[in-house]
Amino acid sequence: MNENLTKEDKYLSVDTILFNANVYTSQKIVEAGIAIDNGRIIKIAKETNLPQASARLNMNGCLVLPGLIDSHVHLRDQQLAYREDFITGTAAAAAGGITTVIDMPNNKPLTMDSQSLRERMQLAEKRILVNVAFNSVPPHRTEEISQIVSEGAVGFKLYLLQQIGGVNIDNENALKRAFEAIAETKVPIAVHAEDKTLLEEAKKEIQKAGRNDVEAFLEAHPPDAEVKAIKRVTKLAQNSGASAHICHVSSAAGLKTIQKAKGPNVNLTCEVTPHHLFLTAQCVKKQGNIALMLPPLRTKSDTEALWKALRQGLIDTVASDHAPHSMEEKTAQSIWDVKPGIAGLETLLPLMLTEVNKNRLTIAELVRLTSENPAEIFHIKDRGSLKEGCVADIVVVDIDRKYKIDASLFESKAKFSPFDGWKVKGKPVKTFVNGQLVMDEGRITSKPGTGRIIR
Ligand SMILES: [Zn+2]
Repeated sequence: MNENLTKEDKYLSVDTILFNANVYTSQKIVEAGIAIDNGRIIKIAKETNLPQASARLNMNGCLVLPGLIDSHVHLRDQQLAYREDFITGTAAAAAGGITTVIDMPNNKPLTMDSQSLRERMQLAEKRILVNVAFNSVPPHRTEEISQIVSEGAVGFKLYLLQQIGGVNIDNENALKRAFEAIAETKVPIAVHAEDKTLLEEAKKEIQKAGRNDVEAFLEAHPPDAEVKAIKRVTKLAQNSGASAHICHVSSAAGLKTIQKAKGPNVNLTCEVTPHHLFLTAQCVKKQGNIALMLPPLRTKSDTEALWKALRQGLIDTVASDHAPHSMEEKTAQSIWDVKPGIAGLETLLPLMLTEVNKNRLTIAELVRLTSENPAEIFHIKDRGSLKEGCVADIVVVDIDRKYKIDASLFESKAKFSPFDGWKVKGKPVKTFVNGQLVMDEGRITSKPGTGRIIR
């Protein structure tokens, strides 16, 4: 290549130009076009300053945002493929404007050592439409932690509500050792913060009374259990220097605990889900087991506290906790057998855009919570913002589009949602992953394999 050529000259013709767009870049929205070549953003500029392109796509004045990074997704597959698989799960992400997901490890088999992680990555490789990064549970042996990270895990997921994975959560020293080893690798520990002992105590009392109702389930997961687990994690993070990320904070009491704990001496971040922001326990009482999740839906004052914290910057990420189940699993006879969780990939962005339209949230806040911060927390390079040199992971949004959520049209195998029938305003209309158009007006336009494994 001629070394006298300027950077622009090298791209006399690029793969794709997105034109007639309102692009969110460098913290503001600008009327511009985007030049994409070889999967990366080459230039964001006025159209007259962009190079020639093989393909030119009209964005019709739509808002163009960085594709979302959803850091809490259960893609299932393997022995849980009846609930979701890599193809349907990542198609759901593409439909929802999400270009990267972080997969949770409570699979069958568990993702808990370098071998199980490698097998999962190999299976995923040719089947994913969006990018996928993986979490592992902490393994039996502390020595394996660095191997798992070398294999490519971007984080660990620790469940404190029940024993899932290798580390004995009843043994404080074992947990301490795991936190110390993870701290050395620099990857974060995402935590399901509900205290096992408190949950067991609460459940024993309730079951003794022979109760099998929705209220009983809610009472078996008191906010106290969230508070206790957050305190425990804070201490472990503080003493080890590890970064802890509290998943799906659900209660005002839990938030208050995080607010007190955050500071220069501890690396603590937290996540909230749309269902905890938008729904209360009333919804479970009305819709039944479909709306059962963990932590459970709380009161109106809890949702108000979550919104306030979101606006104040106390909450770092919004993630779906996409947790699909079969209808049989959601409608089990005994409330104690019902599987908690809902599909969330296809509702996260439209629900949040609706709030942008109500001026409850700015675009800048939305992008920070769903793209910039998750990229930073999980060390995902060159993604999460629209800048020259970054990978072209992009969602195109029609901010004025009104429609009704229809769960029967979900790409996910779980075709039900407590948000079914909700009227929303703001729709992801195109999703680009690594520069490729994977979703156009709700249609999947690309083949599995467009997404990459992020290590
Ligand atoms: Zn989860």
